[in-house]
Amino acid sequence: MKTVAVIPAAGAGERMGAGLAKQFMELEGRPLLAVTVENFERCSAVESVFVVVPPDSVSYCKEEIIKRYALSKVRQVVPGGKRRQDSVRLGLEAAQGESDLVLIHDGVRPFVHPEFIARIIQAAFQHRAVIPVMSLKETLKEVGNDGRVKGTMERRSFRLVQTPQAFRYEDILSAHRRAAEENWEEMTDDALLLERMGIPVAVVEGLEENIKITTPYDLELARFILGRRKFYHESTKK
Ligand code: C5P
Repeated sequence: MKTVAVIPAAGAGERMGAGLAKQFMELEGRPLLAVTVENFERCSAVESVFVVVPPDSVSYCKEEIIKRYALSKVRQVVPGGKRRQDSVRLGLEAAQGESDLVLIHDGVRPFVHPEFIARIIQAAFQHRAVIPVMSLKETLKEVGNDGRVKGTMERRSFRLVQTPQAFRYEDILSAHRRAAEENWEEMTDDALLLERMGIPVAVVEGLEENIKITTPYDLELARFILGRRKFYHESTKK
């Protein structure tokens, strides 16, 4: 089965509170988005990549990220939309006719790993839709608008969701088109669209390192993770 990756990176990064959008911020001298895309470059099961960026950053991304870091699997840099789901839909439309299977991965999760991507693709051969998830380490409570606890959840039944999420291309494209036509409200992940259509979604174990860079603290954490990786890499070369 042919597999492509759609990488939405068209967010404004408001929660980061900096001028430069977080997907273009530097991690060890390279833009975060380049680090993310390189993991897909190194996964042989992925044929091509479609990167979605803010419309006014398309040429910057082509020159300063794709060309500069020789990201040869990137087929197109697509101008994104207002919400994440709009950006994903535009990326999927651009990838039309290219694949049977599609991975959708947040541009701001640079620690996705080529072997982890391959594992998700393998699982997607068996299941129609696959998402990586993590167990909760902390207690989960529901809090009301009055600032008081309403109840406590059974932690064992809940999971935190990561990307890449893998789908049959036709399934996810038609779900996104329907969501746009029928004006569905904001969807925080792509699997939710398939759940709405009654398509079963399977889970695989996520990767603890695969964090989403959202706040300045996450960026600090990312630099720490990269530094640690470099340390291990260099000490195993000795
Ligand atoms: O904002 P959120 O944390 O959900 O963003 C997840 C990913 O979706 C990020 O990589 C972000 O750049 C992307 N995104 C997008 N288009 C938007 C909003 C977010 O591609 N309009």
